[in-house]
Amino acid sequence: MHQKPDGDAMGSTLALSHFLVQFGHHVTVISPTNWASFLNWMPGAKQVLDYERDTEKCNQLLNTADWLFCLDFNSAARTKRMETTLLETKASRILIDHHQEPQTEIFAFGVSDTTKSSTAEMVYDFIVASGYTEKINKQVAECLYAGVMTDTGSFRFPSSSAGVHRMIADLKEKGLEHSIIHEALFDNFSENRFRFIGNVLLNRMEVFYEYNTALIAVPQADLIKYDIKTGDTEGLVNFPLSIEGIKMAAIIIDRGEERKCSFRSKGSFDVNSFARKYFNGGGHFNAAGGFSKGSLEETIADFKKAMKENSDQLSTYKF
Ligand code: 5GP
Ligand code: MN
Repeated sequence: MHQKPDGDAMGSTLALSHFLVQFGHHVTVISPTNWASFLNWMPGAKQVLDYERDTEKCNQLLNTADWLFCLDFNSAARTKRMETTLLETKASRILIDHHQEPQTEIFAFGVSDTTKSSTAEMVYDFIVASGYTEKINKQVAECLYAGVMTDTGSFRFPSSSAGVHRMIADLKEKGLEHSIIHEALFDNFSENRFRFIGNVLLNRMEVFYEYNTALIAVPQADLIKYDIKTGDTEGLVNFPLSIEGIKMAAIIIDRGEERKCSFRSKGSFDVNSFARKYFNGGGHFNAAGGFSKGSLEETIADFKKAMKENSDQLSTYKF
């Protein structure tokens, strides 16, 4: 899975592992970095190895594996420090992913489909295509549901196709209890996180009505003050999109080593291209990310400049 895994990266990977172990395969799930604690309820999450914490063991596993499933990322660089071992291993790499422009030359096999809501949906398709749907047990179903639900914004984004809803219906028929998953993911935060969000919306958000754009810029001091952990900032970038008329929302978080950026849009503004062009990143059409090595102030200035360069598209915005 990709670094700093989200619900889909963790959910799709764990679902696949719960499927494969039923055939007697030895499967290890590796995350390139640590992850948000709200993912720890997922069956098998406690056994996931953190590459940065357990580098030697992970390298050994990567170097001796026969097969390496690469889920929810399109390029080796998305695995951060794991990249070198990932590229040097003799294992056959298999891609299952829904991001644009996959690095196809490094994969022996793969499915890449940007129309898919989530990698979890693609793992479900993979299981169905294999003919072993009876192996979708409670663990597989919960992990798949978590992946699809988080990547579709609880089934609100345009990617929530009829096929997605059919898949969820199938999981429900197989005994999935979906309410407890929503609770585990969304009703499990610290008080601090809410105080932090209050502070951010009050003091760190700028709205540029002329460009139908809003920017949140979070200094490192805020992260320290509110004891913000990996995952606590997840979803924050979506808040400004609920302001009437806002079509693009951005967040820049000063993580010390770099300024991490996230971009979201509604309708026809392509934040994937925006993130690629200005912030060394990429992602999807309506949800992308990137980073900057400049200071927070410089990154904010870069963003405003980029926004103004795109005024043709942002100012006269059409759905
Ligand atoms: P998020 O804003 O939630 O971190 O990421 C949104 C989307 O953009 C995800 O699909 C993710 O894969 C992609 N993304 C986020 N950060 C980066 C980055 O630094 N580089 C690239 N290529 N994609 C990113
Ligand atoms: Mn995904």
